[in-house]
Amino acid sequence: MNTILCRCVVAVWLLTITAWAQAPQAPANLAPDARYKVDILVIVGHPDDDTEATTYLAKEIEQHHVRVALVYGTRGNSGGNAVGYEQSKALADEREMEARHSLATYGITNAWFLHGPDTPSEDVLHSLETWGHGESLEEVVRLVRLTRPEVILTWLPNYDDGENHSDHQAAGVLATEAFDLAGNPLAFSEQVAAPRDHFNVSNYGEGLRPWQPKKIYYFSDAIHSEFYKGNGPEYPSSDISPSRHVPYSKIGELAWGSYQTQGDYTPEQLKEVMETPVRFILGKSLVGGTPTGDVFEGVRPGAIPYHRASGYQPAARPPVSIELGGPWAFYRQLWQAHDIEHIGKLYAPETGVAPEEKLWVPILIHNDTDSIQQVTLNPALPAGWTAKPAAQIYSIAAHDTYPVSVWVLAPASAPKDAWVNLMWNAQSEGRDIGSVTLRGHVDREHMPQ
Ligand SMILES: [Zn+2]
Repeated sequence: MNTILCRCVVAVWLLTITAWAQAPQAPANLAPDARYKVDILVIVGHPDDDTEATTYLAKEIEQHHVRVALVYGTRGNSGGNAVGYEQSKALADEREMEARHSLATYGITNAWFLHGPDTPSEDVLHSLETWGHGESLEEVVRLVRLTRPEVILTWLPNYDDGENHSDHQAAGVLATEAFDLAGNPLAFSEQVAAPRDHFNVSNYGEGLRPWQPKKIYYFSDAIHSEFYKGNGPEYPSSDISPSRHVPYSKIGELAWGSYQTQGDYTPEQLKEVMETPVRFILGKSLVGGTPTGDVFEGVRPGAIPYHRASGYQPAARPPVSIELGGPWAFYRQLWQAHDIEHIGKLYAPETGVAPEEKLWVPILIHNDTDSIQQVTLNPALPAGWTAKPAAQIYSIAAHDTYPVSVWVLAPASAPKDAWVNLMWNAQSEGRDIGSVTLRGHVDREHMPQ
């Protein structure tokens, strides 16, 4: 070997070692802001929706030091005011404060409010439209990344016979979507870009980290609750608070007391509502466990890897086919894309309907063939019920979908509290191509559809 070359290599190596030894230590990496870390993030539609889970949350906070924060889709700018004239934006200013005061009574201090307008409807697509679906989702994803929840609790993303407020459903949809997006750095990437100099001005990059929540659970205000059985845990409200020496149902009543503008309940009704156990339906778990196991079953501290949901897949269907449209069609796609298809199996498509009130039934006729198709749609309704249009023939272009709006009128004589099947049969070229059925529950007050 060339002796001079060998000495040079050794000299360079020694210089490098010296430089390493002299390099200053870089500042420690900054961790996510621990003040905002939660175990449970509750995502709901309105100020006061939180009371659906208050008795459960109050016990978890007191006995297990669980950290909880809230996201509200609206600030509650609509609805009656039980104590004053304030309405609209003034009412929203009051209701945001009512929510903060209510949460504070059992130990929750962090709550964020999106800017969705209160949208009295039963069609989730209506709320998603008025809220701004994209902007609202961006904010929910941001708050999931900021609060890094182990578990998300939210409204059931489904159309039901209950209050069925579209703002509730919209909260459930956004929470479900955010669960699957917050861990993906390509979703709202600017949120997870590191700022160039966080001490200085004119930065871009929000400096958050991607975060994959571990579980999502749903709750519902459907008038029938048998679908909870076996699908999620149930928590009684009768346990006694060690520090306050009252049942958690009483703590729930006290928390409700801050919502003075709402005024929904008599004292007797409020007591009954708060004494009802809190029931959840498991949406999905990325950490195992059983549907009826505890909310925190399988949850361990620390991050888990991003889990990619199935995403949208076109449905397999016959060449010419029909299905319920509107929110029902949307939910079928949502459940498939987010791997929660069991939600669609909890109960058949349903709605509430009042006598002498028009009910909108959207039906989609799909033509996946290469030629125009004629499809006849025939209603099959209970005696006395009418549909407009009645039987009708539709021409559907190749590879097109015809969105049919049918208006059903329930007779004044419709039996109260009865369930009826509203059915449509479709034929093409003399052959049956399928049917759709919507269950209707007669005689109840409900939101404008
Ligand atoms: Zn509500």
